[in-house]
Amino acid sequence: MTDTNCIFCRIAGGDIPSSTVYEDEQFRVILDLSPAAKGHALILTKQHYANIFEIDEEVLRDLIVLAKKVAGAMKETLHCEGVNIVQNNGERAGQTVFHFHLHVIPRYADDGQQIGWKPGTSDPDEQAELAKKIGGAL
Ligand code: AMP
Ligand code: ZN
Repeated sequence: MTDTNCIFCRIAGGDIPSSTVYEDEQFRVILDLSPAAKGHALILTKQHYANIFEIDEEVLRDLIVLAKKVAGAMKETLHCEGVNIVQNNGERAGQTVFHFHLHVIPRYADDGQQIGWKPGTSDPDEQAELAKKIGGAL
């Protein structure tokens, strides 16, 4: 399914031009319009899935293999020192375009970016309870 009101459906389908890095039947890899660093790419599914909760598992398997290839190509051609793979689900998690996409972000010594979180603290009893709760639903 694709959605004509969804900008990433339209980009993935080629209706809106983009800086395309790669394309196949399932995916289009484009450069982010507001890159965190030079070469910041987005892997878009051609089918519309809003987020990780909706995406087809077979598609997801192929997607992560493609992400590895894209990261390798960045390392080889851009000589980045590292790569962040980021994927946001839901507004609270920073998702702004509600069509599944994976960020592949090359990292350089002088890129000035901080991608991460403020480390918190943990309590062993709570950790055990949380692990049991999440694991019990798998
Ligand atoms: P997220 O916040 O994870 O939903 O990421 C959305 C990303 O899409 C942001 O990094 C935007 O800069 C990027 N973006 C939004 N519109 C476009 C567009 N038309 N072409 C390329 N990247 C876009
Ligand atoms: Zn879409």
